[in-house]
Amino acid sequence: MSRDQKTVIEREIRRRRLNLMLKCIICVLIFGSAGLGAWLVYDTNFKDHSNPWTESGKAAGEKAPDQEAAEGSVSGDAPADDGQAAEDGSGNDEGGASDAAVPADEGSLEALANRMAAQYDYDGAISLLRGQPGYDRNDRFKNLVSTYEQTKASCSPYPIDQITHVFFHSLVYDTSKAFDGDAYEAGYNQVMTTVSEMNSILQQMYNRGFVMISLHDMVEFDEAGNLSKKEVLLPPGKTPFVLSQDDCSYYHYMDGDGFPQKLVVTDDGKVKNSYLEDDGSVSIGDYDVVPIVDTFVEQHPDFSYHGHKGILALTGYEGVLGYRTDEVYKTRQEDRVTDFQREFFANNPDFNFDNEVAEAKKVADAMKAEGWEFASHTWGHINPRTYSMESLQRDSDRWANWVVPIVGPTDVLIFAFGADIGDWQPYSMSNEYFAHYKSMGFRIFCNVDASAKYWVQIGQDYLRQARRNLDGYRMYYTPDLISDLFDVDQAWDDSRPTPVPQM
Ligand SMILES: [Zn+2]
Repeated sequence: MSRDQKTVIEREIRRRRLNLMLKCIICVLIFGSAGLGAWLVYDTNFKDHSNPWTESGKAAGEKAPDQEAAEGSVSGDAPADDGQAAEDGSGNDEGGASDAAVPADEGSLEALANRMAAQYDYDGAISLLRGQPGYDRNDRFKNLVSTYEQTKASCSPYPIDQITHVFFHSLVYDTSKAFDGDAYEAGYNQVMTTVSEMNSILQQMYNRGFVMISLHDMVEFDEAGNLSKKEVLLPPGKTPFVLSQDDCSYYHYMDGDGFPQKLVVTDDGKVKNSYLEDDGSVSIGDYDVVPIVDTFVEQHPDFSYHGHKGILALTGYEGVLGYRTDEVYKTRQEDRVTDFQREFFANNPDFNFDNEVAEAKKVADAMKAEGWEFASHTWGHINPRTYSMESLQRDSDRWANWVVPIVGPTDVLIFAFGADIGDWQPYSMSNEYFAHYKSMGFRIFCNVDASAKYWVQIGQDYLRQARRNLDGYRMYYTPDLISDLFDVDQAWDDSRPTPVPQM
């Protein structure tokens, strides 16, 4: 680096520091007074239920970082005594007429609107602020609304038939256990992605302007099943994509191979993984796609379109999400119980089926609240065209009876084995497989085809989309096919044995 360059860089650093300092000072001034104002309104108007520093105050609404900063700048150390006084009702209650021009939680409203706009939901953000009492006199809100309107005007609809779709299996958390030379190592190496690879892929895709959308952002269906296209509105430079994860069951065969046990809901409503450590203790953290994406979107809200996340393609034969919720765990029907299941029963004498179902449902509900969706991967991980219609019906009935009660109904079928129920030509009702799945309520169908960047077929009564596998096999053998998404050299986990075995 030349001397001149150094001087320029140093000057730039000084300029930025000065800038940052000025911004900090302005922030303290603005947030300090806003926070004080908010605190005063809280204090006089909402005493019966909320001091902003008490637990009840927090429970009243999700607190946005902005507001936390605002409160922090006023509170310093939270005055515990004050909270006490407010809670035992000895405070002054009569200022109840809260028709103030400024709502008590203006800070969190603003943060919420900003987050919606950051996630490209401009209309939602605008109507949120416009709907507030006193909006006409609130210059701050009006300015925000005009910013949202300007940004929205810069957006254009992305062509629905050019949207790409990527998918993962369960991520390898402990690579030394997955790649330990046992009988499963080759399969993990081929079709799985490691946690460090996933982190790199997400960051790289985010840096390149990719935005995660739902399949249901692309199309919708009326009650008769007729499709109409929707509009995915994004600013210049942004590219929508769909993310899915297959087989998030934590199948028995994966035990001890470096994968989490299950998904769990923490006390604060977040979805995390539990992981069984060597010493028998259980860790809770981001060890698979769902919590990793959730954390990433918390840090980068604009990676998610309208707060939408990915879609999980589930089977049912060993339960869902790590919970043993299938019929066979209830009936233990002798001719259906597998060796894995026999071992599971032996190791878990306290297993309670109803509790298991309730826990799984809690996780599924929390995931839906976080923007996740569910698809059928068929109950038995089957290739429909190798099954008789009678067997197909049995598989679909098991899906409906043992999985739908937990994850809710879905109109998305993500085929197992990357199979399909037809060639590339449009589906029609003369295809008995299509007729079957349509009668079961499925409208969106996904196969696997990584040969093109995208493949979307929009029928009159269905949507079909190809998916691209971002796994060891794809990264090792054909990195060029996914170079529009990320750079494999940057993402590659060196703990993978090479060569990745041929399929
Ligand atoms: Zn699968």
